[in-house]
Amino acid sequence: MSSYTPTYPHQPLGGLLKGKRALIAGVANDRSIAWAIAEAFHAEGAELAFTYPGEAMGKRVIPVVEQLEPAAILDCDVASDASIDNAFAQLKKKWESFDILIHSIAYTPREALDGRFTEVTTREAFRISLDVSAYSLIGLTRAARPLMSKGGSVACLSYIGGEKVVPNYNVAGVAKAALEASMRYLAEDLGPDNIRVNAISAGPLKTLAAAGIKGMRTMLGENAEKTPLRRNIGHEDVARAALYLCSDLAKNVTGEVLHVDSGQNIMGVVSMR
Ligand code: NAD
Repeated sequence: MSSYTPTYPHQPLGGLLKGKRALIAGVANDRSIAWAIAEAFHAEGAELAFTYPGEAMGKRVIPVVEQLEPAAILDCDVASDASIDNAFAQLKKKWESFDILIHSIAYTPREALDGRFTEVTTREAFRISLDVSAYSLIGLTRAARPLMSKGGSVACLSYIGGEKVVPNYNVAGVAKAALEASMRYLAEDLGPDNIRVNAISAGPLKTLAAAGIKGMRTMLGENAEKTPLRRNIGHEDVARAALYLCSDLAKNVTGEVLHVDSGQNIMGVVSMR
């Protein structure tokens, strides 16, 4: 489309994903990590399809993703098996097979993201957070597998809160731990199908989902000072990591958590510096 101007311009690498088809789940707006990934994949020659959860989100998402002239834009609420089944039935009408699945989805009820973990982690908040943020990787991958008949690559988005304690991230961190463990079990299970499954653990980025986390602004400030590289990451850094993991460059990489966080995850104590 001639009026399209990239939000996250990508220095082309020569058609790394030419001939590949990628289904991208998790664009909410042009600040979404999934959007940066979509733009880079598009620039590298991939054909794209997108999902959004429900009609109300669709009104916001469709005008954004249409810019990349996708093969399909599908309603898919990952909290519902019927919605997943329906989305993949629709996708099958467009694509007889595809190569890449991006899972860039998380949700935790806001009241569980502020306050003492013991007090705010209700059974219901735990259920919703783990279902939407972690189980959904299994649900989507199960639905994708029959269409990944030529092999493929699945990548999901994680965060350091799944490995170490991040105050206020609370049960969202527990969900990331479950996401990363699910990723490894999927990688082992789908290896014989030549389907690779990996995670990118990204540093903090200003997005809609991140806005719900108390202390995000402080975290961005601290990262710029306290990570080994002394700077924050950008959306385009995550997009490039996804390009690597989903292209043939990573053909023997599976079950991996690739940290794109200026080195934050290697630090134990930073207060002595
Ligand atoms: P975002 O709000 O743009 O994306 C979150 C997406 O999850 C949205 O598109 C939303 O529609 C989708 N979603 C929520 N519930 C859903 C449901 N029931 N069915 C289908 N989709 C649903 O925010 P983002 O920061 O781009 O988040 C993308 C991923 O990156 C998440 O997994 C998030 O945890 C992860 N992540 C974000 C950061 C950060 O700092 N922003 C850091 C590390 C990891």
